[in-house]
Amino acid sequence: MSIPTPPTDLLVAGERRPAKDGATFTVSNPATGEPVAEVARAGEEDLDAALAAAHAAFESGEWSSVSATDRGKVLSRAAALLRERREELARLEVLNAGHTIGNARWEADAVADVFEYYAGAANKHLGSVVPTQDAGLGVVTRVPVGVCGLIVPWNFPMMIAAWKLAPALACGNPVVLKPASLTPLTALVLGEVLVEAGVPASCVSVLPGPGATVGDALVADPRVGKVSFTGDSSTGAGILRRVADNMTRVSLELGGKSAAIVFADADLDAVVEAVPYSVFDNTGQDCCARSRLLVERSVYDDVVARVAERTTRLVVGDPADEATEIGPMISESQRATSLEYLEIGRSEGAEVVCGGEPSGPGWYLTPAVVADVDNSMRIAREEIFGPVLSVIPFDDEADAVRIANDSEYGLSGTLWTRDVGRAMRVSAAVRTGVMSVNTNRSVRYELPFGGFKRSGMGRELGLAALDHYTESKTVFYSAE
Ligand code: NDP
Repeated sequence: MSIPTPPTDLLVAGERRPAKDGATFTVSNPATGEPVAEVARAGEEDLDAALAAAHAAFESGEWSSVSATDRGKVLSRAAALLRERREELARLEVLNAGHTIGNARWEADAVADVFEYYAGAANKHLGSVVPTQDAGLGVVTRVPVGVCGLIVPWNFPMMIAAWKLAPALACGNPVVLKPASLTPLTALVLGEVLVEAGVPASCVSVLPGPGATVGDALVADPRVGKVSFTGDSSTGAGILRRVADNMTRVSLELGGKSAAIVFADADLDAVVEAVPYSVFDNTGQDCCARSRLLVERSVYDDVVARVAERTTRLVVGDPADEATEIGPMISESQRATSLEYLEIGRSEGAEVVCGGEPSGPGWYLTPAVVADVDNSMRIAREEIFGPVLSVIPFDDEADAVRIANDSEYGLSGTLWTRDVGRAMRVSAAVRTGVMSVNTNRSVRYELPFGGFKRSGMGRELGLAALDHYTESKTVFYSAE
């Protein structure tokens, strides 16, 4: 497939159109730094039109009164349409987010899978009948929460949008999606597909535009019943403050500084093969990146040398090339941040064993393995969101748990050991929302995903997400 034509209009209540004030902004290709599209920039009037339509639809029950079974059928159609447009979605993600074509195809499939999952889940979000002291029937049901304001980041533009759109719609809520300004293209396609599949037009808006204006106004609007945000922890904290007056429901999926913990008894061949992908995939721009590698001291030097050697064999280059494993970073400033952290690491006494070399055109940076890191150093404490791995030694199980938990974040993690008892003890003791044992993958759409501490609140994916897009409602029928 040749490069697809990027969508450039807003989607306001299902209608594709320019911004009311005619404003646009340029989006670029991170592999070249060149512009790829001039996209409509939503302003106040566009947001108001989207929210007015969504709120009226919510009040009239236009979507929530469609049976859960039929909502599921619409989402199922959306999944089928997304599969038909798989290559277009993947190519747009390569063009705009710099994802490697292999990853982008996997992500396009995952997006369709998520819609299929929630299509099936729509009519299985069960309530309960509760025995009560008074004679009668206590019935607890789940009802839609209201207009959902969904704000997504640039690191996995279509996947994170799908994680929010699919459960929100399955539960009967209208949605207003604000994609990241750097990567609005695939979100616009998702919106278009949803309307084509049969979600009422009034219930679907996609509004590219600045977070500081459109995003801020969206979260603060009293017509919004629920905000779901993924991005930086400090932005998330600001949103939490902003929704306080309206008591808008909110879930936040934020930053991480997750640990992969390697015990000496682990299958070290498997560790060396897996670890580089757990941090350098998507060029390290992943909230789940295991950016701290904790290694038992007896095998520390060996693991550092072998992980560094494996890392230097990762294929860095043009994301459209089928052989490429590591594409560019999203922007010049994101790359500058990683370079700055490498300098900070050196100045704190750590050793950059490999990587950290920028190249261009585009925002490339070779994956860096940094050894002799102490967990008190800034490179071990702060989310870098780039291809930088800090390797930290530990003495025993208790020390590993102490270091893993010595972080303001708690999102993801991996544990490598052949000892089942140790796997159970350590996975229970590490304060993190998700822990994988002897495998890299940290997100599975059937399982809840989200973090402890400054990594956020609420859970996405799995059946757990349905609770976050609904309210519990209790009705008691008296038998007297
Ligand atoms: P932000 O948290 O600023 O942006 C995420 C989304 O929120 C974007 O759609 C953004 O819009 C929007 N937004 C920004 N400000 C507001 C606001 N005040 N109210 C409502 N919405 C808002 O992340 P950045 O993209 O700026 O990246 C900054 C850093 O955040 C990265 O370097 C990285 O460390 C971290 N990050 C973490 C992610 C994660 O998954 N944990 C994901 C992305 C980033 P706009 O794009 O227009 O600014």
